[in-house]
Amino acid sequence: PRVAAKLIAAPTMEKAPVRLTHPDKVVDNETHLTKQQLADFYWAVSERMLPHIANRPLSLVRCPEGSEKPCFFQKHTNHMLPPGIGSIDVPDKKTGTPEPYITLDTREALAGLAQMGCLEVHPWGSCNDDLERADQLTIDLDPDELLPWEVLTGAALDVRKRLKDLGLESWVKTTGGKGLHVVIPIEPELEWPQIKQWCHGFVNLMERADPKLYLTKMTKSARAGKIYLDYLRNERGATAVAPYSPRARKGAGVAVPLAWSELDEPERPVFRVATFPEWGGRLKKDVWADLPKTKQRISKEAQKAAGL
Ligand code: ATP
Ligand code: MN
Ligand code: MN
Repeated sequence: PRVAAKLIAAPTMEKAPVRLTHPDKVVDNETHLTKQQLADFYWAVSERMLPHIANRPLSLVRCPEGSEKPCFFQKHTNHMLPPGIGSIDVPDKKTGTPEPYITLDTREALAGLAQMGCLEVHPWGSCNDDLERADQLTIDLDPDELLPWEVLTGAALDVRKRLKDLGLESWVKTTGGKGLHVVIPIEPELEWPQIKQWCHGFVNLMERADPKLYLTKMTKSARAGKIYLDYLRNERGATAVAPYSPRARKGAGVAVPLAWSELDEPERPVFRVATFPEWGGRLKKDVWADLPKTKQRISKEAQKAAGL
């Protein structure tokens, strides 16, 4: 069904100065979101979003016919990409052969993603100049959709406390989907195999402490009533959706950074590209401002605690 007119982005948003071949093409039917509005959205959030995606290899989810038609992941560059999109050579895991991955660091390039029908941006957890060593971990909480919001937020707060006990500060974001992501910036020291092992050890401790609630195996069928602690975002080449990225799902929700205190809200906050003009002061105060400034490491004790 068509949504109320107020869900449609106000035409007063600043127009992104990028070339779009079909600006009126609808990329999300539910909110009647157009390519132009998508470009304007990327343009509007660029200052907040770029610090989290610049200087990293990116996977893009492209939906040339909108979110309801088939979409695909693109990680490699080609000659058909819009202006400003850069390339970073990433050695293939097995052969070592360099492959050109997409990377971008300008407002113009970000807004230009709309031209590609790009509805999602997914960065690596390591930087272009230090690809093998993670500088950002993501614990991806994947709940059974029937679980109440309070149970999911309780789990995210549990992750935060356990990290804190290991000397690590963390941040939280909505995914624009059903779960939450807890994000941990770290100094790039450990390489991906160790990082993966540590994250696996960390979620195993949680599962052992509360096996009725937590699950660490990917099996979808076993998820009833539980939260899958997806630690597999933390291996070489894996990605997690970027903060402020739209989602290629009905209604075009957005992954948005939250203050930890917002998990006390009785209901899940929902943000959509199309409701951006109603986000209020959300972009004015950056609830993740301290994340990029935080210098912390997985101490020897913390390494040992989670089985490294
Ligand atoms: P939700 O809250 O609904 O779980 P999500 O973004 O966490 O949203 P997941 O299915 O848990 O969705 O996937 C976690 C992350 O794994 C994604 O954000 C994405 O970066 C990555 N991912 C998932 N599927 C693929 C895929 N087929 N190819 C590449 N990356 C993927
Ligand atoms: Mn998830
Ligand atoms: Mn997942």
